[in-house]
Amino acid sequence: MTSSRPDPLSVPPPEPAEGDADPSSQTPSSRGAGDRVASTWSIADRRGGPVLSLPRIDHRFGSGPTVAIVANIHGDEVVGIGAVQAIDRWLTAHGGMGRVVLFPSVNPQGLARQVRHVPADELDLNRVFPGNPRASLASRTAAALWSQLQALDPALVVDLHADALDAIPYAIVDRPVRLDPSARRALGTRIEACADATGLTVLREYRDDVYQHFGLDRSLAGCVVNQLGVPAITLEVGPRRAMRPDDVTVSMHAALGAMHAVGAVQAPPVVHHTRIEGPWRRAAPSRPRRGGLLVTRCSPGDRVDAGQVIAEVRDLSGERLDVLRAEAPGAVVSWIESPWVSAGALVGTLAVADEGPL
Ligand SMILES: [Zn+2]
Repeated sequence: MTSSRPDPLSVPPPEPAEGDADPSSQTPSSRGAGDRVASTWSIADRRGGPVLSLPRIDHRFGSGPTVAIVANIHGDEVVGIGAVQAIDRWLTAHGGMGRVVLFPSVNPQGLARQVRHVPADELDLNRVFPGNPRASLASRTAAALWSQLQALDPALVVDLHADALDAIPYAIVDRPVRLDPSARRALGTRIEACADATGLTVLREYRDDVYQHFGLDRSLAGCVVNQLGVPAITLEVGPRRAMRPDDVTVSMHAALGAMHAVGAVQAPPVVHHTRIEGPWRRAAPSRPRRGGLLVTRCSPGDRVDAGQVIAEVRDLSGERLDVLRAEAPGAVVSWIESPWVSAGALVGTLAVADEGPL
């Protein structure tokens, strides 16, 4: 790929309108059946400081659905950046049927500092959608991205994340909690078809009350599902702070599978060897009552029974301080990356059986 790729931290004068693509930076190039345009979109500093310039890549192939793929909302989760760049190359080589818009990083300052949040305001960008153009940087970033997504009228949004070193890759589906029951059921079927097509283990989000308590309807995927009424999935592949080639490939194939499900590309289905057939719901192990060294007894992908001890907390002399159990039958999905945990910490992710429609 020889097309110019904007520096995510560059400061281009003059200032374009917030959230608009900057036409001066567009570099069209025709390859086979499609056109590829690399451009930037901008978020101005409220105090007249430097403009934050973020990259965007558009592939157009003709009539067909539009898919938006977003990476690096969390600054230390970089697998998705590699996956977006791999998808970019894949689309250039193989083409598609509609339009695919790639956002390689929407938190370049978090990327540069290798932190989850947006450094300027320490907010989690994935909890502030649809954003606010007059608030702090995370909210303004969300608003600028949201206005582009609304204009794109996508058939699918894929949000690329990373979880932990000790994890199986998985896809998360959001709860359409704001839709009426019949619309919710119809959209839920479409979302789950996209998620199944990733070839990964699929977790439905926490139950409705917990989902809303954690503000997950203000995550990117949650907001797309609940405010645009459009399928969105979140992929959790690989560890934070690393971009291993195998993880990039898994994330790319999972995204292509979902894109295939809406008719945006023709990609052969790839089922990951760790996939566990659901339907599953995201759940947490029991929380430690005392802090200490986390010693796991099960590996991600292992099936567990209700009440089974899946980890323990020990002190430095090896004495057991607490045992952590699975509260329902299911499977271990991931363990926290810190081997030293505090009392009350969320130490991992489990999959438990989920009944009924999404
Ligand atoms: Zn994340």
